Amino acid sequence: MKPPAAALACLLAGGLLVSCQSAPSARPVPERPNLVILFADDLGYGDLACYGHPVIRTPNLDRMAAEGLRFTQFYSASPACTASRYSLLTGRLPARSGFAWVLGPKSVRGLHPEERTLAEELRQAGYATAAFGKWHLGRPERFLPLQHGFDEYLGLPYSNDMRPPKWESMPLIDGDEVVELDPDQTQLTRLYTERALDFIERQQDRPFLLYLPYAMPHVPLMPGAAFAGRSPRGLYGDVVEEIDWSVGAILGRLRQLGIDRRTLVVFTSDNGPWIIQGEEGGSAGLLRDGKGSTWEGGVREPGIFWWPGAIAAGGTERSVASTLDLYPTALRLAGRPLPPGETRDGLALDGRDLLPVLLGEAPQQRDPLYFHGPGHVLHAVREGPWKLHVVTSSQTGLDYFDGKLPLLFHLERDPSEEHDLAEEYPEVVARLRRLIDEHQAAVAAEGSRFEPGEAAGGR
Ligand code: MG
Repeated sequence: MKPPAAALACLLAGGLLVSCQSAPSARPVPERPNLVILFADDLGYGDLACYGHPVIRTPNLDRMAAEGLRFTQFYSASPACTASRYSLLTGRLPARSGFAWVLGPKSVRGLHPEERTLAEELRQAGYATAAFGKWHLGRPERFLPLQHGFDEYLGLPYSNDMRPPKWESMPLIDGDEVVELDPDQTQLTRLYTERALDFIERQQDRPFLLYLPYAMPHVPLMPGAAFAGRSPRGLYGDVVEEIDWSVGAILGRLRQLGIDRRTLVVFTSDNGPWIIQGEEGGSAGLLRDGKGSTWEGGVREPGIFWWPGAIAAGGTERSVASTLDLYPTALRLAGRPLPPGETRDGLALDGRDLLPVLLGEAPQQRDPLYFHGPGHVLHAVREGPWKLHVVTSSQTGLDYFDGKLPLLFHLERDPSEEHDLAEEYPEVVARLRRLIDEHQAAVAAEGSRFEPGEAAGGR
């Protein structure tokens, strides 16, 4: 069932979220709902049962999808960890960040203080804010979550493989303090989940933002004892099933506390599967390639939205959406809608409000999506069903089309990107090339303010 049109009209009236009690047929939508973002690391499009995996058991995510809305063309903003997290928290394309690509443990750079994160925005709207998990937006203290709008933090400041013997000891950070070195990673999913449940309990009477970026299924795969050796998919399946347990625990606690109907929960991943890890990497299903690549397998992700009473149960959404869209959507829900236009305080914004799509009122009228590869070189653009690659790369070392460029694919007829149509549709190629040229000029015009030499920048 779709919410009545009157409900959406009231939601959008004056840019403020209201309950619309005066509209007798309207389904009340809570003001300032809680927002929970569950963010897997290196999970592929094909790694959940509800996205077609034949043996990995994800009953809680399957139920979340059955009770909510499952996107089939949902994108991470980047095929790499740091850049993807930057975009999730700012609503801005990673090319605007000043990061060259992925931050290492010794990087002196981090999320620029002028960026306005989702946590900062929601905190100003009266939300309690917490992040429990992998940060990866700068290790120095001035870049940690507490300096970017989060009231609480517990987690690893970067990827769980950045550890001895290749690197120095890896810190587990609570707030700004290192509380343990090289923690037992088999405890991480449970630890983050317990902190998340505790946070929900403590903040149940006020709006909150809970950001839970899991350490896994990024390698090393370290399932808890209760999950190790259980999945026929091996260690990879074990850690995904533990994440599924975590999701079930969180949704269950929201129901138990009676706050599920005023909580929007989103589950997705930062980038596609790390396929060069062999069995320890995931699967992008029918999509080509994986992490680090702007082929579909690197950037298209499971995207599940759950909000009982507001989002109709059991929907499948086929329009294009992105992690970039969470930022403006959350701000609208928090009663802080973004002003018209694509910039605010001189900062370009690349996300679009997803609320009409979530409420079943309108398909997403998505602007072109741009995909950048290593070094933030622009690799591809998607507009409607069309995707044009002007650069390709793969961690596998494979060049699937023997160096031919550009490459044009119709992603709805050919989601696996197998049939290049560049010669057959030169007018589409020309149009998408123009979009790329215009976009690159616009990004270059803003990019200088975050160049290396300031507080942020490349690796
Ligand atoms: Mg990742």
